Amino acid sequence: MPATYVSMDGKLVAEEDATVHVSSPALRFGAHLFEGIRGYWNTELGELFVFRLDEHLDRLRQGMKVMRYERIPEVDELRTQVLDVIRANEHDTDIGIRLSAYVLGRGFIDAAGPVSIMCATDATPARTLAEHTTTALVTSWQRISDHAMPARLKCAANYQNSRLGLMQARAAGYDEAIFLTPEGKVAEGAGACLFMIRKGVPSTPPTSAGILESVTRDTMIELFAERGAHPVAERTIDRSELYMSEELFFCGSTYEVSPVVAVDGIDIGSGAPGPVAAQVWAWYEGVIRGTDSSHPAWRTPVYGRQPL
Ligand code: PMP
Repeated sequence: MPATYVSMDGKLVAEEDATVHVSSPALRFGAHLFEGIRGYWNTELGELFVFRLDEHLDRLRQGMKVMRYERIPEVDELRTQVLDVIRANEHDTDIGIRLSAYVLGRGFIDAAGPVSIMCATDATPARTLAEHTTTALVTSWQRISDHAMPARLKCAANYQNSRLGLMQARAAGYDEAIFLTPEGKVAEGAGACLFMIRKGVPSTPPTSAGILESVTRDTMIELFAERGAHPVAERTIDRSELYMSEELFFCGSTYEVSPVVAVDGIDIGSGAPGPVAAQVWAWYEGVIRGTDSSHPAWRTPVYGRQPL
């Protein structure tokens, strides 16, 4: 459900007034970087926690640097803009937060400014692991590579590659797409990273495999290191290993933990969400919502009540 206010450069406006000009490089050429962030409501504390906000802000700022934006707002300015719009909308449920940095004006492909920052929020219902369960197709569209369109940046234009794969998968009756690199190795999903459990060992492709440097992937690596039977191996994954694995799951701010129960029509493990995905989901739910008091630095309280 869309919220009442959207923040345009820190100014709160009604959603219908939150517009960009058709002549802007943001619209014409995709000069636009964005973040998808989540906030989780803790009923017991009456507090909303934004999950790993500063890591998202850091990734956005890194993207602005690589794409040569003429102005990169400080972390404090971005954090204030995000928290102000959540408070103005008085959210008291789980939320999705969309934060964008784009180029306005009437410039050409190389325009570096003026840079504008938008933040919008939406109430998002919590979902169970069963509701996150998916099937996937290994798409014939290759993942973009670092020497063409760096996948580690969250550039809106990169999502045309995600779109091609996802729409191919959906047209063929699957829920999701898995992309391979130009070398034929496993990269990631259209909007999520991928973890594989094989012979009990969790693994995920390295950040040099044409993937976004995902905040959730990093969270999973930390949680497995702390609590798992094995740490995560960041390694090259072959396509054929996917079919031979015990479990696969996508992870991301939006996908959270999404078990993949079949790839290309081949069942993964038993063809149902496995025990490792269920365990990881339980760990993740605890740290995002603050019902698990570990990692307090990962949770930014919106309304100023004390984190657990
Ligand atoms: N890969 C892609 C292509 C994505 O769009 C996302 C979502 N931002 C992810 C991975 C997961 O990233 P994060 O955990 O930072 O949300």
